[in-house]
Amino acid sequence: MTDDSRTDRATDATGTPSDAEIPADGVTYETRVPPGESPVRCPYCDRPLESEKLLVLHEGLDHWTELSDEEREAFRETYQAETDDLRTFRLKMFGVLILAYFAFLFVYSYHTKDPFSATALVVASISARGR
Ligand SMILES: [Zn+2]
Repeated sequence: MTDDSRTDRATDATGTPSDAEIPADGVTYETRVPPGESPVRCPYCDRPLESEKLLVLHEGLDHWTELSDEEREAFRETYQAETDDLRTFRLKMFGVLILAYFAFLFVYSYHTKDPFSATALVVASISARGR
């Protein structure tokens, strides 16, 4: 399986990561960057991130003690917005799950004449496995 998504990493002419890409702790980060955009870097640990929003979240989670009051307030606002977006996404996915459930239920009830045929199928498969 190939990963054809574009990753933007600092490389030299031979394609190996440059020294600037490898942090002092030896951990490398793979960051997906949309074409035409450059990643932002954490000013505290030099980690590349996709967007300013992710940088604010990263700073708040990993460098809380080093942040100023304005940066902490920006983190709180961004974190709250992210939480609201996540809640909205979960509600939408729950709605999709309910729609899919009833869609399959209607298709099943339309195509079957015996409502217990699925139960009979399960019982038959279990008894056939027992032989
Ligand atoms: Zn950092």
